[in-house]
Amino acid sequence: MAVLHASCKLKLFENMVCFMSNFSNNKWKSAICFLCFAVWLSACQPAKKTGTIYALGGIPVNIITVGLNDDSLDRITQIAKISIEEWESELSMFRSESVVNQLAQKAGEPVFFSSYAWEALQLAIQAETVTDRAFDVTVGPVIRMWRHAEQNNTLPNEQQIRQALSYTSFEQLVLDDKNRSVYLKVLETESLSEFQSRFVLDFGGIAKGLFSEWLSRSLYDSLSANEKSRLEKLLVDIGGDMYVKSMSDEKPCRIGIRNPFDPTALWGIIELVHGATVTSGTYERFFEIDGTRYCHIVNPETGWPIETDLVSATIVDPSGAIADALATAVFVMGEEKAIDLINSLPQTEMVLIRSNGTHYVTEGLKHKLDIL
Ligand code: ADP
Ligand code: MG
Repeated sequence: MAVLHASCKLKLFENMVCFMSNFSNNKWKSAICFLCFAVWLSACQPAKKTGTIYALGGIPVNIITVGLNDDSLDRITQIAKISIEEWESELSMFRSESVVNQLAQKAGEPVFFSSYAWEALQLAIQAETVTDRAFDVTVGPVIRMWRHAEQNNTLPNEQQIRQALSYTSFEQLVLDDKNRSVYLKVLETESLSEFQSRFVLDFGGIAKGLFSEWLSRSLYDSLSANEKSRLEKLLVDIGGDMYVKSMSDEKPCRIGIRNPFDPTALWGIIELVHGATVTSGTYERFFEIDGTRYCHIVNPETGWPIETDLVSATIVDPSGAIADALATAVFVMGEEKAIDLINSLPQTEMVLIRSNGTHYVTEGLKHKLDIL
């Protein structure tokens, strides 16, 4: 394929030079020749095409392909729209029909999970274990409490925080692997209605990375053999969380890291052949209570929003969900523990940017990162 490409370029170039030799003015000749060559070169490259939909409460989801035609792109963009809607209705804490809400509604009774929802739960448990509970989807009641606090512009008191924390923890869930079902244990001392109004799993810190990987897999699988042979790159971008796949090791995908101090500019570019790149930042999502800013990431141990010197954390990992969870967790863990953890994971790389503008990059990423 690459050979065919090169020979086609060479032939056209020869034709063009031949054609140009009829001109007398050398300057004009070389200028026009250069222009034609540039236009023709770009025409020879398969075009990058983007299909966009909006999901998860209005987040842009971009399906970027190199090598596919418009019809193929339209088709897979439609598949993406249907799939993401299905996953969201199963996993969103804002949808009453979701399994994460049913767990509380049906407390004490098994709730049956689809294979997707089950995989999401297994990854969430893995993330909780790996991060020593810095990332924990059972933190939902605490997130809800802070959302109410923001709406009422009033800080919660320590007793309210303790109470919200008492409804967090995986220990309250009983999993049945064989039947892919889960039920929520209700302690005898607790009233059922309290539990039902409080307990919820929050997949918000993992969903974008997880869905970008699922989309990448299912969209690739939906391509015909002919489309697969033409495809050079497939990138799924959900609100900046990317899952990429290049068909050639020599032509990696180039992924920009936003500059946390200037959202219109890039801070760096990472080259990646296959896998996830997820960035979490304190510069974009926060809320205010009584004039004070609070971060959207909370510490599952204390129930308080985290305070940190980090402004941006980018994780590169083969798993979209784990990359997303780790990008959130490093803010809870703090720089030192985060660096120790990431360096202990052989397939994971990280970029941290501090509020004073300095940065940290893991050894394995240095040769794949261009700092601008
Ligand atoms: P973003 O990419 O939009 O910055 P993150 O991936 O960092 O978001 O996830 C933040 C979301 O994760 C929060 O809005 C909240 O729903 C949830 N969350 C916050 N803190 C935690 C935590 N310690 N563990 C698990 N989920 C969390
Ligand atoms: Mg995250």
